[in-house]
Amino acid sequence: KAKAHRRGQCVLFETAENEEMQQAIAIERQLREADLDSELFLLFQPQYSPSRQRVTGFEALARWQNPTLGLVAPDQFIRAAERSGHIRKVTAILFEKALENLADWPEDIGLSFNLSAHDISDHTFVLRLLGRIMQSGIAARRIEFEITETAVMTDLASSRALLEKLRASGCKIALDDFGSGYSSFEYLDQLPLDKVKIDRSFVRKVAHSTTSREIVAAVIGLCRKLDLRCVLEGVEAENEMIILADLQPDLIQGYLYGRPMSAKAAMNMIRAQSERRAAAAQTA
Ligand code: C2E
Ligand code: MG
Ligand code: MG
Ligand code: MG
Repeated sequence: KAKAHRRGQCVLFETAENEEMQQAIAIERQLREADLDSELFLLFQPQYSPSRQRVTGFEALARWQNPTLGLVAPDQFIRAAERSGHIRKVTAILFEKALENLADWPEDIGLSFNLSAHDISDHTFVLRLLGRIMQSGIAARRIEFEITETAVMTDLASSRALLEKLRASGCKIALDDFGSGYSSFEYLDQLPLDKVKIDRSFVRKVAHSTTSREIVAAVIGLCRKLDLRCVLEGVEAENEMIILADLQPDLIQGYLYGRPMSAKAAMNMIRAQSERRAAAAQTA
């Protein structure tokens, strides 16, 4: 009898949908109960300028190491945090950690920080982040906020007002994942932007599709005309880079130049670069 019962349970829990639901419940529970300040951390992925042949900054990418859940990826917990009302807490903790790291880096290295849709809809909260920059003494121009179209879609006019405030304080704004989802030229027209990040899903295709290549080339050209910096996301292979170099993007971000790495590894990369540059200056 017990066996039949167990079998019944298995049927109930075996479906993928159910497993996903269980996972979401577990994540939300841990968001409530865990010591997020000690469990959340950031990895840093370099952004490389081909023309200047150097790393100009890093994107901060969130990770969550939880005793019960293990290592959780942001795609899993950011949305859960939004749903369950924990996103501000999560973002605030991550932003403090981002500022701490940035304070250790040289002045000419910047940091990009992702804001979620919920973050953007709460202007008071975002302005509080801005206040933290001012208190930290870090130059605001070194900080860039990455936003996605889903974040600004619901109320373009009010998002624009908020982004204008951020920019007036010296921060930069990047439109993330452009070319995927509901990206629209409307955003390029209406939003005060400094940078556009062309989505990985698009960049991946340039090696085998001339159409994709032409589209990426056209977007880079458009960015140049609009005086926006352009980042190619997700460049993984040398053969992609050979094709993409012709298009002269301002920045490249992808596994080819560096995976998301620990703060310590990022620091080592920055140091090695400074030493190389100092040595080159001496021989010049
Ligand atoms: P994103 O902002 O577009 O970040 C880029 C993602 O692409 C990162 O995934 C990065 O690890 C991955 N990536 C970079 N280069 C390559 C490559 O060459 N190949 C491949 N296959 N992947 C590459 P990650 O770290 O898993 O982050 C996923 C998304 O989660 C981010 O996409 C962003 O939307 C969100 N996210 C990450 N950190 C935060 C955060 O602190 N706050 C918020 N609100 N969202 C975050
Ligand atoms: Mg991003
Ligand atoms: Mg992206
Ligand atoms: Mg993304």
